[in-house]
Formats: sequence, structure tokens, C-alpha cells
Amino acid sequence: MTKETRYDVAVIGAGPAGLSAAIRARWLKSYRSVPCSTVLCDPAKPGGLARLRSTMLTGPSFHLSGSELIEKLEQDRTDLNIPLLSVEVQELRFIEERWHLYSDGQQICSARAAILAPGMRCLTNEAEYFNRGLTLTYNGYDYFPQLLSKLIGDAASGRLVIVGNEKTVNLLPILKAVAERNIELIFLLDEPPDSELGKRFSGEVHFGRVRRYLGTERVEAVEAVNDEGDGSRINCDMVFIDYNAFEIKPAAAIEIDGLVKDGRGFIEVNREGATNLPGLFAAGDCAGLYAMALKALSEGALAGFSAYRYVFQQKFGLAAPLFAYAANGEELDPNRLDYPELVATDKIEVLDRNQVEKTFEKYSISFPVGDCFSVEELQRDNTATQEIVFALLDKKAVTIQPQEEKERDFARRL
Ligand SMILES: Cc1cc2nc3c(=O)[nH]c(=O)nc-3n(C[C@H](O)[C@H](O)[C@H](O)COP(=O)(O)OP(=O)(O)OC[C@H]3O[C@@H](n4cnc5c(N)ncnc54)[C@H](O)[C@@H]3O)c2cc1C
Repeated sequence: MTKETRYDVAVIGAGPAGLSAAIRARWLKSYRSVPCSTVLCDPAKPGGLARLRSTMLTGPSFHLSGSELIEKLEQDRTDLNIPLLSVEVQELRFIEERWHLYSDGQQICSARAAILAPGMRCLTNEAEYFNRGLTLTYNGYDYFPQLLSKLIGDAASGRLVIVGNEKTVNLLPILKAVAERNIELIFLLDEPPDSELGKRFSGEVHFGRVRRYLGTERVEAVEAVNDEGDGSRINCDMVFIDYNAFEIKPAAAIEIDGLVKDGRGFIEVNREGATNLPGLFAAGDCAGLYAMALKALSEGALAGFSAYRYVFQQKFGLAAPLFAYAANGEELDPNRLDYPELVATDKIEVLDRNQVEKTFEKYSISFPVGDCFSVEELQRDNTATQEIVFALLDKKAVTIQPQEEKERDFARRL
């Protein structure tokens, strides 16, 4: 693993919960805060289920569509320099106070804290085929006949793949009417092979999960993968993803020793979004009821803050300065020198690039270290910031001296 793959916070899943968590761990408004270096992992495009439905944030008097929501979250992610790694995380291991993330047996990165936000199942390229032969269950069982009719249209025959799990048996009474129309039913169940379970479904049954959907204009096949990692292709004309089944039994594909879940398989968290394991947090649909974007966003923010506090404490041995979000009861030290001056805000003149003379002679320059880059990033690959430091060095505006390890350690803790 190279040095570049070490982060403060790693977030698994880039749906509403994961995006919100990653943004919150980076976006801190207190002047003394140093943001965390943060990474997001998701094999699908960012947005999670918000990509697949039109209306997401709703109240009696407001509507924010899925695409509007993703557009805003994505803008923030880009502005805050949060990289997105296109990988499915399959395992997390806690080694020497850091969480190490693995995919296909390879280590991807490590972080001081990790936030689980994988929703109810891993997504792939569903968004490419949504309403082009592929749909999902929503609005409860009463609405399913209408959804199925819309999906099947006037097709007199064809192959319909139903993606679900053992709880998809609940759909069978509704699917009976479909089978009578000469539509072949093929079930892809996210379960280990189980012939007894297979017998409960009338039709072709496969055990495994979706790797990706294939087709040119519309969906034409599902590429599946079983527990042993063997792939297969299931040709089809339509796909129906049974999200109700995953709401009852989420597809928990990430291996984490000792993680406590409830009877259904949702991750248990406390009021701070913390799991039972050190430095491991969870947010959104993976943490159980209710499945809604508003909850995913707020739980994401909660987990983001909590991860930040955990990392800050670990790095500096101090409580994180999150005043306004979480006052820590600390009394102000009368001898501290770095409090900002009491200046009326209307007296502070801030110049932009065009107003500034390049000699910089007449100005005072202040560095809001916390707003864009973390200390760890400054030490790493941020060439723009390094160039600024070197420019200041050339001008003798800063001095840089070698430091003994024990002094470095002391400075790191300040
Ligand atoms: C059909 C449908 C309609 C809905 N309509 C609404 C609505 O109108 N309003 C509303 O508020 N809510 C609605 N919801 C619920 C809402 O979509 C979810 O509550 C919300 O998207 C949850 O956000 P999340 O980030 O927790 O999970 P998701 O949106 O599911 O995102 C999880 C992300 O994690 C990724 N992931 C999973 N496993 C891994 C892994 N191992 N490694 C890396 N990445 C991984 C996935 O690919 C995905 O991108 C609807 C849900 C469905 C199914």
C-alpha cells in the first residue's frame, strides 16, 4: 500500500448517507478545526438510490428531486476534494488502530475511522436501464400489480428476471398473474445455494447477485456472480428488483469481524452513529428503519461529525473544537494567544486576486489552514499548497528547520 492510500476517514457507499457523511467530515466551520482527509468508495456512480427515483426529499410543501439532490451533493464533494474510488469494499479489518479496506483480496486503503453507508445492497449500473426494461418495487405491495403492468406493457411473452432474496416469496401471489401471460419467470436470489428454498419458487432459480446489467437500448441480460465467484449470464427482456425483500433482509456483503447487527441484519448504532467497534460508524438504510433520503442525509452528517471527533481525539489527544455543533464545556483560557481579534465584520476588507499587487508588500496574509486541506494532505500530494509554501520560503516569509522526532511528535499533538 502506498502512502497516498492512507486517509483520516473512509466512507463505504456514495448514496445520500455516504455523500453526506464524507462532506460533513470535511466541511467544518470552526476556525480552529482541521478537516479530515476523506475518501469515498462505491462501484456505482454517486447518488445511490437517489439516481433511480424522481422525488427524494419531500414534505407537504417541498420537493427536491433525486437528480437535484445528487447534483448538489456532487458539487460539494468536488469542491471539498473528496476522491471517489470505484470499488466494492468486501472486507474491513482493524489493524494497528486503523481500518483497512479490501476488495477482491487486495487492500484499497486504510483510515483512522470508517463510515459504513452501503444502503441495503450494492448497486452497479441500474441507472442506465431504469425505465428501459428495469424497475424496482416501491410504495408497498398494493402498488406492485400496477408497477408490473407498466413494466410488462402488452408483451405477450418474454423473460422477466426478479432480483431479490428469500423474502421474495412474498411477491409470489402477485407474480402468478404474470406467469399466466406466458412470461417466463427467472429468480436471482441473493442467498447461498439452497434447494429447499429453490423449490418454493416456480420458475428458473439462480443463487447469487448481480454484477452488472447488459444491453444496448434496453436491458437484455443480467451478469450474475455466485458465492464462489463464478459468473453467469441470464438473458432477459425485463428486470424487476424487489427492494421490499431487501428492506426486510438487507444484503450484507461486507465482512467485518464482531460487528453487531439486529435480528434482520441491520447494523446497530448508538445516538452518535457509532457501532460497537472502535472508529467504525454507520448511517442511512444500512442502519435500519426508516428508508428515506432525509434520514440518510441526517444520519450521514451525524456519522461524519462523530468520525471527525474520533479522528481529532486520536491525532491530537484533544476534544475536537466543534463549538456550535457540540459544545465541549471547555472554559476559555485567558492566556491563549490565538483568539481572533474583535473586529467589526464590516471593517474587514477582503481583496480578490485582481485587486492585489503581486509584490504583496502592503498586505497581511492569513491562512485558513482548516478550510480546504488537512495537515495530512499538506504533507502529501498537494502540489499547489506545497508550491505556496516554497514561494513563501523563497521570499523568506517563512522559515523551515529540521526537527527532532520528539519535537515533531509534540507539534503533531498541538
Ligand atoms: C424504489 C425506491 C423509491 C424511493 N423513493 C424515495 C422517496 O421518494 N423519498 C425518500 O425520502 N426516500 C425514498 N426511497 C428511500 C431512499 O432512496 C433511501 O432511504 C436512501 O437512498 C438511502 O440512502 P443510503 O445512502 O443509505 O443508501 P443507498 O441510496 O442505497 O446508497 C448506498 C450506496 O452504497 C453503495 N454500496 C453498497 N455496498 C457497497 C460496498 N460493499 N462497497 C462500496 N459501495 C457500496 C451502493 O452501490 C450505493 O450507491 C426510495 C427507495 C426505493 C428503493
